[in-house]
Amino acid sequence: MKIKSAEFEVSAPNLRGCPEWALPEFAMIGRSNVGKSSLINALTERRDLAKVSDTPGKTKLINFFVINRAWALVDLPGYGYAEVGKQRRLEFNEAVADFIGQRRQLQLVLVLIDSRLPPQRIDLDFLRWIGGCRVSYALVFTKADKQSATRTQENVNVFLRAVAEWQEVPPEFVVSSAKSGTGRAAVLALIAGVLAKNNRSGA
Ligand code: GDP
Repeated sequence: MKIKSAEFEVSAPNLRGCPEWALPEFAMIGRSNVGKSSLINALTERRDLAKVSDTPGKTKLINFFVINRAWALVDLPGYGYAEVGKQRRLEFNEAVADFIGQRRQLQLVLVLIDSRLPPQRIDLDFLRWIGGCRVSYALVFTKADKQSATRTQENVNVFLRAVAEWQEVPPEFVVSSAKSGTGRAAVLALIAGVLAKNNRSGA
């Protein structure tokens, strides 16, 4: 897929504030610093498209970018843990839960995972949660340029084994690097595949 245009459209504080359009949407989420902004810029080949949304105070907002005037990339606020008494509980803002759970235009969620790390409990907790939602998701392992391909593959394998503990069908995944461009075509192909399928089914 060729990116002909990529424009920041709007930020929304909650589901009700999201645009009322018919564009199919592809959302990105992950822990802060996982490389989400870099991936958005790499995918769209824009130097600082994602920076538009990086101004202080906007990090808790849902940011929409319109691509090729045909679909939207949605930058979701990340997740973290909240301390509840002595327990730690997975937490992300209500807008994210509503968006992922209820947004009709949402076609696919790309969950970004740092390829350098062993499986992080918080990522696994989030995947368990999203596995219970209606929407499909795929994994994008980021920052692959930071280590050898063998090491990345080992980490991916360990991660997929962890997911297999509760999910029978392994998720689709892409290994990516915003720095080298690895995985860019594969992520765009994933999106193009969903768009083509929806066109065929008339959705
Ligand atoms: P975000 O908080 O998830 O949006 O993460 P950023 O995109 O701001 O990236 C966090 C840091 O990781 C920045 O210093 C980026 O330059 C760096 N980074 C992101 N993606 C990559 C990558 O693919 N390779 C390398 N080497 N660094 C990356």
